Amino acid sequence: MSDGYADDLWRDFPKTAIEFEKHFATEEDCQRYWIKARWADTPVCARCKSAHVWPVREGRWFECADCRHQTSLTSGTPLEKTRKPLKMWFRAVFEISSRRNGISAKELQRILGLGSYETAWAWLHKLRAALVRPHREPLAKHVEVDEAFVGDKQGKQLVLVATETDGRVRMSHAENNDAETVKRFAAAEIAPDASVTTDGHRGYSAK
Ligand SMILES: [Zn+2]
Repeated sequence: MSDGYADDLWRDFPKTAIEFEKHFATEEDCQRYWIKARWADTPVCARCKSAHVWPVREGRWFECADCRHQTSLTSGTPLEKTRKPLKMWFRAVFEISSRRNGISAKELQRILGLGSYETAWAWLHKLRAALVRPHREPLAKHVEVDEAFVGDKQGKQLVLVATETDGRVRMSHAENNDAETVKRFAAAEIAPDASVTTDGHRGYSAK
């Protein structure tokens, strides 16, 4: 599972309970979302890579018209072999991601009605490891990185500032403004595929 995959799964994931109910009302909604995130809307056969496929087994698998191979929506992911609906997994992702202080296996078991504590614990671990990204999404698209000094007569401190075109801003206190420091700041706050500009006197490359 590539990082890009997890990013796509996360990007449009509902942030509120209302959104969740709206976007994931049915299992088909969840399957559609999953296919969009994983295959950019065009699922391909796991064996021959043909995009000539159709859904089978209530949409949990798709069959290839060219080689007849059947691919599970979740094959090759941490949800491989699950018999539970995607909606249940998405609900778990939502519960984990929407709580600042996290969620215990016991709470998750209660919310989802899972049969055992052990199952809930296993779900938490799978999802934490593989699907759930940090709460802060990195800045994306066009980002400008600048330096600023803040402080008063007692002393000024260097601050690195990253500003996204649509307005989100990240700041970080920095000891200095050498290339390595700027690079570390950018890596923490900016998506790798964003285009980054600086105030010009110092080169910065995202790659
Ligand atoms: Zn095939």
